[in-house]
Amino acid sequence: CTLVFIFAAACGDDVSRTGTEATPAVTRTAAVLPSTERPVEAASAKPGPSPSYELTARAFCKAEVSADIRAEGAADSAVVGALPSGEEAGVIERGGKWAHILYKGLAGYVESGSLLILSPVPVPEGDWSLILVNPSHKLPEGFTVELADFGGGQVDERIRDVCDRMFADAKKAGVSLKLVDAYRSEKRQNELFRRKVDAYVSKGYGRSEAEKLAATITARPNTSEHQTGLALDIVTPSYTKMNKGFAETKAFKWLDENAYNYGFTLRYGRDKTPVTKVIFEPWHWRFVGVEAAARMKISGQCLEEYLGKAD
Ligand SMILES: [Zn+2]
Repeated sequence: CTLVFIFAAACGDDVSRTGTEATPAVTRTAAVLPSTERPVEAASAKPGPSPSYELTARAFCKAEVSADIRAEGAADSAVVGALPSGEEAGVIERGGKWAHILYKGLAGYVESGSLLILSPVPVPEGDWSLILVNPSHKLPEGFTVELADFGGGQVDERIRDVCDRMFADAKKAGVSLKLVDAYRSEKRQNELFRRKVDAYVSKGYGRSEAEKLAATITARPNTSEHQTGLALDIVTPSYTKMNKGFAETKAFKWLDENAYNYGFTLRYGRDKTPVTKVIFEPWHWRFVGVEAAARMKISGQCLEEYLGKAD
C-alpha cells in the first residue's frame, strides 16, 4: 500500500516533495478506524484501502496545545488523532468550518479555526530572507542588494512580485495599502538618524542620551533593516501617520491577518520592545519568507526570538 503525496505547490525545499520518499510506513485512514480508538492504537490498525491524496496547501496548527483530528467534519465525530501546535499538515480540501487534512499518514478533519493555512502560491525564500539586522547585528561589511522599483520606492528584486501581489490582493479585499518607505541607502539612513538625534538635542538632551533615544525610533546606520530592501513601511490613504494609531486601521487588520501568506511579519510588535529595542511599529513589515512568517505568527515570536538570537 502506498500513499502518494502530490504536493501541488509549496515553498523552498518542499517543491519536490512528491512520490515515495514521504510515504509513511503505515498507511492509516481515519474512516476505517473504530470510533473508540485513540491515535496510539490507530498505528496498529489494519490499513484500509490505499488512498491517494492530492494536497492543495500546507497548514500549521495554531491551537494552543493541539487540535483534534476527527473522522468526519463534525464536532460529535470520533477523535482519531491530534495535530500538535505548530506542526505542519497537508490540506486535502478546505471547507468552511472543517478542513480535510493529512498528518503523518492520518487523514481526518480539523476545525479550520485551528489552522493557519498557507497560500499555495510559491514565494521565494532562503538564508537571505532571514537576515537579522538590529543594533547588535550590523549589516555585513560590503552588503549589496539588487533592487527593483516598487510602489514609489525600491525593494530587494527577489520580493518585488510578492509585494505586488500583497498590495493587489489587499485592494481586492477592499483595503488600500500605501508604501511610505522601503529600501534606504546607508547615506539616507545616516541622514534620518542624524535628524532624529538633532531633534532630541534641540529638546535639551545631551548628545549621547539623544543618540540612545533616537535609536529606539530610527535605527543607526547599518543597523536598519531598510538597508536590506526587505522591510516595508506601509500606511493607508485614510491614515498616513506612522504611529501606533495605524494599528486601529482596516489596513493593519488586513496585514495582521494576511501578511504572513506573502512572507511578511510584523517586525516590531506591541510587546516586543524589550527584545527588539524598537518601539511598537505597526507600519513596519519585514519579509522573512512564508514558513518563518507563519511560524512567528503562531508562536508570537519576533525575529530575534525565532532565530534564537535575542540578547
Ligand atoms: Zn520601517
